[in-house]
Amino acid sequence: MANEHRVPWVLGTQLHPEAGPLGRAPEGSRVLLIEAHDFARRMRYHHQKLTIVFAGMRQFRDELRERGYDVEYVQADTFGDGLETYFERHPDDELVQMRSPSHRSAETFETLVDDAGGSLEVVPNELFVGTREAFDRWANETDREPFRHETFYRWMRRQTGVLMTDDGDPVGGEWNYDDDNQEFPPDDWESPPVYEPDHDELTAETSAWVAEEFDTWGADDDLVWPVTRRQAERKLEHFVDGRLPEFGPYQDAMRSDDWAMSHALLGSSINLGLLHPMEAVEAIEEAYHERDDIPLNSVEGVIRQFIGWREFMRHVYRHAMPGLAEANQLSAPHDLPEFYWTGETNMECLRRTVEDVRERGYSHHIQRLMVLANFATLWGVKPSQLNEWFHATYVDSYHWVTTPNVIEMGQYGDGVFASKPYVSSANYIDKMSDYCGDCRYYKTKDTGDRACPFNALYWDFLDRNEEQLRSNHRMGLMYSHVDSKQESGEMDEIKERVEDLRRTQSHGEL
Ligand SMILES: Cc1cc2nc3c(=O)[nH]c(=O)nc-3n(C[C@H](O)[C@H](O)[C@H](O)COP(=O)(O)OP(=O)(O)OC[C@H]3O[C@@H](n4cnc5c(N)ncnc54)[C@H](O)[C@@H]3O)c2cc1C
Ligand code: SF4
Repeated sequence: MANEHRVPWVLGTQLHPEAGPLGRAPEGSRVLLIEAHDFARRMRYHHQKLTIVFAGMRQFRDELRERGYDVEYVQADTFGDGLETYFERHPDDELVQMRSPSHRSAETFETLVDDAGGSLEVVPNELFVGTREAFDRWANETDREPFRHETFYRWMRRQTGVLMTDDGDPVGGEWNYDDDNQEFPPDDWESPPVYEPDHDELTAETSAWVAEEFDTWGADDDLVWPVTRRQAERKLEHFVDGRLPEFGPYQDAMRSDDWAMSHALLGSSINLGLLHPMEAVEAIEEAYHERDDIPLNSVEGVIRQFIGWREFMRHVYRHAMPGLAEANQLSAPHDLPEFYWTGETNMECLRRTVEDVRERGYSHHIQRLMVLANFATLWGVKPSQLNEWFHATYVDSYHWVTTPNVIEMGQYGDGVFASKPYVSSANYIDKMSDYCGDCRYYKTKDTGDRACPFNALYWDFLDRNEEQLRSNHRMGLMYSHVDSKQESGEMDEIKERVEDLRRTQSHGEL
């Protein structure tokens, strides 16, 4: 028999009616949601990030009440204050909460509940595809390296049976079709339209309240992000119907006038719990089997993101924290340039990308990795500063997912899984984007007036980190170029150019 005093406490990133203790609580049960505000005052978050968090919770409250749940919705400065209010009203209750993926969250919440005179049981988080226990067991037993993404991904495919044949082989014979997924679209290619939810009065009011209550960053109109489960389901349907077929080939391409390309645009919804990642995977796999217009490289490419990268990051974070948040193995000493906030730079790739982030709290993966993080790594920005910037500015950012992506994948801060830094000169950006054509800088020049900053910074990065990177066999070819630049004296000109770039930046004119 259900215990009426055992009450699900649903966090703002767990807004799924069927997951965890809430999913098993009969209608009519009491449910707790605490809308805590102080976190939003600690940094200048994107307006749309705060709007989707708070509107998502308020919409969920109303949906649960409509279904007949007895929702205690407490608004407070802190979780501690909210818990005190709750236990004054319901002193006999015991709370049960799905574990948040944030570092030491269970201990923190247990202490807060204890201080408020109550008790809390923390149970497994069902909003991931796999479990902590299964990963840890496998990681202990396997003779392979569990913190290599490809190893982990294949294990996840076998575990879930997704895109696997009855004989236990990967569908199509290969595990990974990445080689087919690096094209730039022809000029006449139009990306599929983006689904824009029709937001109601409650969301509009919440957006206005956020603008009044908090010091935010970024545009406060044209919210394209879901705040209800229904809207998130529509976004998924829209992706599967129209965007999925071309997700694969163009997933790494960047165009100035096309912020969405064929990406899923589902990160914010999944990280809020509006959708379970497996719901996305099942819809994608089903469409692949039912339709003949979806190539396998698109299907495998996006499934790898959901059951591979997203789950992998969760486990990396668990195992590498608390050190990961402050990791800086290359001893990068510089502050984040101001143009990450203002967008005021002559570098077209960065200007456009920051503009995308200001407009919607979003840019796609390659803009994050090969423009924003690449520049910061080459410039020598302290990884924790870039992490904080991503955390504040993106609609899908939460400490557990931003930290491994930014500090490790983006800036090679720790070495827990990246086997080399993801850095490039203008060459890569030019190959995968149309930014360079409109840029004030010359993409092919390394030194001299108006030479693309990425170029000199790239060679300078390799030169100044030689001690740590030269012995990396994946960097061998690059160091043969460094050698010839050092021998010919070209490296001295590159160093001068970098000094010049740092001076220009200090005047806000880069
Ligand atoms: C420097 C950097 C910072 C990032 N910060 C975040 C972040 O704060 N929050 C976040 O959710 N993702 C982050 N990512 C990962 C990835 O860029 C986003 O998940 C993705 O761009 C979200 O857009 P989408 O829904 O259109 O994704 P798609 O590219 O269409 O991918 C589909 C889904 O796969 C999942 N996914 C894909 N890659 C990753 C990944 N590396 N880590 C986790 N999930 C992944 C997401 O749920 C995403 O919705 C970051 C990547 C980099 C390189
Ligand atoms: S030339 Fe350099 S700075 Fe300009 S868009 Fe290309 S890569 Fe970016």
